Parts: sequence; structure tokens; C-alpha cells
Amino acid sequence: MTLKLYDTMTRRKADFAPRDPQRVTMYVCGPTVYNFAHIGNFRPVVVFDLLFRLLRDIYGEDHVLYAANVTDVDDKINRKAAEEGVAIGVITDRYLSAYNADAAALGALRPTFQPRVTETMDAIIAMIARLVENGAAYAAEGHVLFDTQAYPDYGKLSGRPMDEMIAGARVDVAPYKRHPADFVLWKPSKENEPEWPSPFGPGRPGWHIECTAMIDEALGLPIDIHGGGVDLIFPHHENERAQGVCATHDHTYAAVWMHNGFLNFGDEKMSKSLGNVALAHDLIQHYPGEAIRWALLAGHYRGPLEWNGELIEQAKSALDRLYGVLDDVARAIRGGAPEESRRADKIDALVARVREPLCDDLNTAAAMSELFGISDGLRQALMKQDWKGVANHRAALLEAANLMGFLTADPQGWFQSGADEGLKARVDELIAARAAARAAKNWADADRIRDELAALNVEVMDGPTGATWRIKEQA
Ligand code: AMP
Ligand code: ZN
Repeated sequence: MTLKLYDTMTRRKADFAPRDPQRVTMYVCGPTVYNFAHIGNFRPVVVFDLLFRLLRDIYGEDHVLYAANVTDVDDKINRKAAEEGVAIGVITDRYLSAYNADAAALGALRPTFQPRVTETMDAIIAMIARLVENGAAYAAEGHVLFDTQAYPDYGKLSGRPMDEMIAGARVDVAPYKRHPADFVLWKPSKENEPEWPSPFGPGRPGWHIECTAMIDEALGLPIDIHGGGVDLIFPHHENERAQGVCATHDHTYAAVWMHNGFLNFGDEKMSKSLGNVALAHDLIQHYPGEAIRWALLAGHYRGPLEWNGELIEQAKSALDRLYGVLDDVARAIRGGAPEESRRADKIDALVARVREPLCDDLNTAAAMSELFGISDGLRQALMKQDWKGVANHRAALLEAANLMGFLTADPQGWFQSGADEGLKARVDELIAARAAARAAKNWADADRIRDELAALNVEVMDGPTGATWRIKEQA
């Protein structure tokens, strides 16, 4: 199946052809770790995790290398460290752990590499030196600047005239710049700020060069796919590309550029500076990670996504429907229904119905509706007691959903996921007491226990192998 991806630079969808199918490379710009990340920051995490899974599915798990960086040198980090009176590493380690835990809760696989600026300093400095040597950068007043006039292709990625881009991005105009669009590769640190020694004087790197050097160090330039949010096209990605091409003399840098649209909250882009944020960290306390992931993937990744409570409730019910069918099948099997052997060809044909829209530039909405198609088939097979059909549809539903990072929980666990350990223990106790009361024909006690369970918002389902339970849907 051919994978088609939309490329921001050519502005069209094209067949994806990696330079080396044995070694497919992807890089995505990651977070600056000084605070908890908001759910908008996790849109690229989930979108590119989906692409990572799809690439692994197509090219094989060992043939896809995915690097997602961490920016751990930044003014905001310095400020936070100063506020708390600790070293920047204390701040960045704390929020990187939280970020990784949240990403995992949203079903994101760990990228192959997670490079950090502080650990890539030598490569960053070496790349700046190479740019100076190649005549694409110059030193001025303790800074090293990229000379945009040395790169005729500058502006090709964002496709906007230079003066418009400069006005739009409010590029700093500094007297030591030869051209207003020239940007910083290295700068002196302010007093009490962390600094690193370099041939250009002590200081710290500019944001753009960090990514280019991390890509080269982790994956080797050029790469197949470069991703990030749409806000990064200019100046960040335009500058990354200029640096990479001038440092390596290879014009590709990244063969495909992919950008996710904004996640909006209350008619505006969710952003820390606007203050309209919902933290993934908080949402995870209230909703299963898969439901948040579903909500993030419900619309096409290139379009804007309006975030609201309804979106996530819809996502939760969509998953309840899929888990509900799996739960019914599991119960039938526990009740003695035969587990038939599966037919690989039938399963593959069903999974292909989900893979196909994903291969069309990640058409997630269509892929989700194909998941429902398979689950309807599973429900029908169950009703007809077609146990071969049940075995094939169940395996296909799980495989196809797993490709997207869904249905990874045990169905019974999914429906009990709102319950804490204390509630689970209490419910198990009550169910056992009810069974004992019934066995002793003590109907009054059995009824009283049933009412007590109902008051706990628990639905009990009696089956031939005993009772199971789930948290009732809120009306
Ligand atoms: P930042 O920490 O702001 O540099 O953002 C990290 C990543 O999240 C980048 O790829 C951004 O483009 C992306 N991002 C930030 N805010 C949003 C948003 N509201 N919607 C979608 N992506 C976002
Ligand atoms: Zn970057």
C-alpha cells in the first residue's frame, strides 16, 4: 500500500519514498521543558506517533528511526530556575519526566531518540563553525549570525516574500545584523545565565541551530520527514533548512515537511502566553488516555481542532462502543463459546480497510469509521454465534485499533477505569456477599446489597461464570 503524505513545501500530496527503506528517518520539534505541557502541545506528539506506528507497520519496527527533541536551554527555563533557586537541570528533568509520563498516558510510543540541547552542545558548536567556514555565517559583537543573503532559496519552505515574513514574525532588528532576516546561531549569555565555552566566546546557541544539529547528530542529514506545529514553519523551519543545506551542501534537508494545525480553545490557539490552557496532566486524571488520544485524532491533523468538553465525551463514548463489543465477546468466551482458529487472510483484509485511509495522509476520521465497520461485523458474528467470524473480526479489530494506539486495555478494566482501588475492593466484597446471600436464599439481604451496588453507580452483569461489573454511564 502506498503511503501518501502532504508536503508543506510543495503544497501537495505525493507518494512517500524514503531514501533508504531499511532506515526511514523522522524528526519532530519537541517541547521546551519549564512547565506542564498543555493539550495543544500534545497534538503533534499524538499525530506523529500515529505516523511513527504506520511507518513501523509498513517498513518494519527496526527500520524506522524517530527523533523528537527536548529544548532544555531557554530563557523561560532560566527564569523558572532563578525563581526556585535551583540549577536549570532540576527544572528540565522535572518537566521532562512529567511530559514523558503524559505522552505515554496518551499512548505515544517512546521515540527512538530524545536528544537534548545540553547533550548536543559539541555538535551544535561544530555545525556553527562549519557554517562560518562555508561563508554562510558571520561573527558580530559576540554573536554568530546566519547570513540569509548567502542562501538564495531562503523563504522557499514558507513561500512568502522575505519582507512579509520579517514583518509577520517580528524578527529582531539589531545593529550588528547585515540583513534584518539574519538570525542568531550563537549569542553571549546574560549575567548569571548558564553558558558554554566555544570558539566564538562563551554563550549559548540560538533555537534554530539546536534542531539542525540534533537532527544531524541523531539521524544524519538529510532526513525523510520533518514535523511540527504549523506555527513553526516560519521562522523556525525555514531557518533550520537554510542552516542544514548550507552546512551539508545537500539541498534536501528534509524530503517531506509536515505540519499539524492548531488546537484551539475558546476561539483562540491554546497557548501558555494567552493563558487559555488545559493541561494534559490534569485531563489524564479525569479521562482515560485513549479517550484524549481519540479526541486529538478525531479531525484531520492539518486542520484546526476545536477543543471542548463535548469532543472528549464523544471520544469516550466512541471507545465505550468498541470496548463494549469486545467485552461482550470476552463474556461469551468465559461462558463457554468456542475459540475458533483465525484466518490470516481474512484478518489482513479487514485491517487493510483501516490502514488504507491512514495511508492517505493520515485520514484518521475515515480510519475510525472503518474501526466501527469491523466492530459491527464482530457484533453481527456474535449474534449469529458465528464463532469463526468472531475470532477473525476480534483479531482484526484489535490489530487495526492497535495500529492507531487504541484498544490496548482489557475491556473489563476499561469499564472499571473510573473506579479507584477502594471502590473496586468494596464492589468485589459486595458481589461476593450477594452471591452468598442468594445461595442461602436470603432474598432480603441480596436485594439490599443490589441497592447498595446501584448507589455506588455500579452495574452488575450476571453470567454463567459469576458476575462482572462496570461503572454505569452518567445520565
Ligand atoms: P512549544 O513548547 O510551544 O515550542 O511547542 C511544542 C510543540 O507543540 C510545537 O510543535 C508546536 O508547534 C506545538 N504546539 C504548540 N501549541 C499548539 C497548539 N495550540 N496546537 C497545536 N500544536 C501546538
Ligand atoms: Zn525544531
